[in-house]
Amino acid sequence: MSALPALVLGGGIGGLAAALALARQGCRVRLYEQGSELKEIGAGIQLGPNVYRMFELLGLTAAIERWSAHPQNLVMMDALTGEEVTRLPVGSEAFRKRFRGYPYGVIHRGDLYQVLLEACRAEPGIELNEKRKGLDFEDRGERVVLKMEGGEAIEGACLIGADGLWSKVRARLLGDGKPRVSGHIAYRAVLQRAEVPDDLWQNNVVLWAGPKTHLVHYPLRRGELYNLVAVFHSDKYEEGWDVYGDTGELNRKFEHERPEVKRLLEKIDVWKMWVLCDREPARHWSRGRVTLLGDAAHPTLQYLAQGANMAIEDAAVLAACARISGFDWERAFRDYEDARYKRTARVQIMSRYYGDAYHAAGVVRELRNDILGGAPDFEAMAWLYDGIALPQSKT
Ligand SMILES: Cc1cc2nc3c(=O)[nH]c(=O)nc-3n(C[C@H](O)[C@H](O)[C@H](O)COP(=O)(O)OP(=O)(O)OC[C@H]3O[C@@H](n4cnc5c(N)ncnc54)[C@H](O)[C@@H]3O)c2cc1C
Repeated sequence: MSALPALVLGGGIGGLAAALALARQGCRVRLYEQGSELKEIGAGIQLGPNVYRMFELLGLTAAIERWSAHPQNLVMMDALTGEEVTRLPVGSEAFRKRFRGYPYGVIHRGDLYQVLLEACRAEPGIELNEKRKGLDFEDRGERVVLKMEGGEAIEGACLIGADGLWSKVRARLLGDGKPRVSGHIAYRAVLQRAEVPDDLWQNNVVLWAGPKTHLVHYPLRRGELYNLVAVFHSDKYEEGWDVYGDTGELNRKFEHERPEVKRLLEKIDVWKMWVLCDREPARHWSRGRVTLLGDAAHPTLQYLAQGANMAIEDAAVLAACARISGFDWERAFRDYEDARYKRTARVQIMSRYYGDAYHAAGVVRELRNDILGGAPDFEAMAWLYDGIALPQSKT
């Protein structure tokens, strides 16, 4: 193994998971995060059985279980009529049994982040650096040089761009322009348990599907908090991240929907707004000793609730490929990309389809309700929730 550390740019969920997975394989890692503190903003994250498998591999199951909660069902409601469209009993024994004992969970982003951060801090091979912004890199064949704001140049054995949707590493590596603005806007908020009317509180992930809108809610932190995500179509916004939203516009978008939906929306005074973006799937996102991971590699709309799940799967696969290649980074990154591109592309594409189904209007809405209205089908989600097998050494 090279005497130089692996460099990770970006300390989000993907960057921390990558640092941890590599360190668990005996690799030294230096991570650089531009933020002033290593922390995660936002609200809830849903965790599929596929990512619980990764937590097990990373030795994080007990820590995650301290913070995550397990909803009983994923429920889709028609936001115009109040009829239940479908219900997947993800809290049932049958679900766990089908997915090899792994559950479905929800967790506060901050809690997931803290679990990863503490695990990284406990690894002597990981150096975490805050308030450090990467601007560019150079691949010199036998090493990479990461160029930081302020002029510093940091040498590493390789570079993993885990720098999110607006990745600078991707811009330099692939040069494929800005992400695609979907025209969908998400507002997110968290309520305290006491603020939620009793008749609207339930231990389910509930999605109210309306024409060009949807609202998702579920309890977090074992029922202390209630997570809300409201999405609507609007072409008013170009791009942006984590800005305060206009509740007037939000309420107008949902004005023809069920009272349950409007009563929850009224509870919120401070919403933050996200302009949702994705990209067309890419076949390649590595070159030489540089690769991408998480949203930098395959940004997706959140309609399958899998972006962070995919970033964590990426991390585990990348670390396995590094070990198998004997830390020959060029080979490891090719193998990693080969192992990941189809699965992550499927998530990107299927997320768009799910978004269309949630936001259907007119006859399409009626058809959606008919098609989804049958008995719950775990097999429909098996391609995703069955998860992945890690690459194995061929010798
Ligand atoms: C409304 C919504 C709901 C979602 N719900 C779910 C869900 O339920 N389940 C799920 O799995 N996913 C969900 N996601 C997706 C998930 O949030 C993302 O896919 C995931 O956070 C991506 O992690 P990442 O580490 O790749 O990128 P990011 O979280 O974007 O992290 C990138 C990090 O890199 C840093 N950075 C950027 N540029 C630089 C630079 N030049 N130098 C240094 N540092 C830099 C940033 O500050 C940031 O900390 C949701 C997303 C949205 C918008």
